[in-house]
Amino acid sequence: MKIGRAASLTDTGRRRLRNEDAFVFEPPLFAIADGMGGARAGEVAAGIAAVALKDGRQHVDGEESLEAIIAEANRLVWERSVADPTTAGMGTTITVAFVDAPASQVVFGHVGDSRAYRLRDGILEQITTDHSLVAELVRTGVLTPEEAERHPQRSAITRAVGTERAIDADVFTVPAEPGDLVLICSDGLTDMLSEAEIAAAIVGADADPERAAEALVAAANAQGGEDNITVVLFELVEGEPGSEPEPEPEPEPAAGPETTIEPTPDADGDAGVRRHGAGSGGRAAAIGLIALVVVVGLLALYWGIGR
Ligand code: MN
Repeated sequence: MKIGRAASLTDTGRRRLRNEDAFVFEPPLFAIADGMGGARAGEVAAGIAAVALKDGRQHVDGEESLEAIIAEANRLVWERSVADPTTAGMGTTITVAFVDAPASQVVFGHVGDSRAYRLRDGILEQITTDHSLVAELVRTGVLTPEEAERHPQRSAITRAVGTERAIDADVFTVPAEPGDLVLICSDGLTDMLSEAEIAAAIVGADADPERAAEALVAAANAQGGEDNITVVLFELVEGEPGSEPEPEPEPEPAAGPETTIEPTPDADGDAGVRRHGAGSGGRAAAIGLIALVVVVGLLALYWGIGR
């Protein structure tokens, strides 16, 4: 088994002025980060995390080493937020996929509410578990999945990279088969599209990663595009591991509030962070508001019963 075609796309969406998502496209390692925090802090957090994952990718060979580079990303975001008051409290989600082709498996690392999905035989399956308030409320039976999709606090996450000194990441390994297609994405996609709509967009693009990426972003924007939308897709195919083309080296982008990394048009060599957008805006920091949000959740339940 080896990695076949792969593609990535990030889009500011139709409501936000800035794109605070970042991604890493460094086969066999792929990742996305969705930053949160006031002013430009979310963008800073996602950028630092993405650069940390990119820098650490050479050391990744399995779960333990993947966990280690996530811990390093957490340390770098945390230390910056402590040192720089304008970024206090910032954080980011991370969803990472490392393809261990010789072992026919994919190792995932995950914190927050970005997601990984696998499309196999036309069936889309969510691989990650959201670390979000609404996901907790669904698990405990307070909300139905349908109520969670429309919940006003659906962006409230219960774990994030960089908000605390220590990080608790989900790291796990999933067996892979030739023909699998993996999607990792930010909530700007999954808040706008149902699982069925995501599957339909990919299948409608003949599971071609590049066409599917464009179709997914277009569909999320057509549904409102309320948040930044980032997708990374790769397929697994028959073949000798290691025969994939190596990503071309490029200058390391520096992470920081004054850094703007322009989008690169080529899908093949665009390793690293790609962002665009200008202005201000951002995702509300949710950590610490859990008690308040539980009340909102209970109100939603009450309304559900009342109707
Ligand atoms: Mn988002």
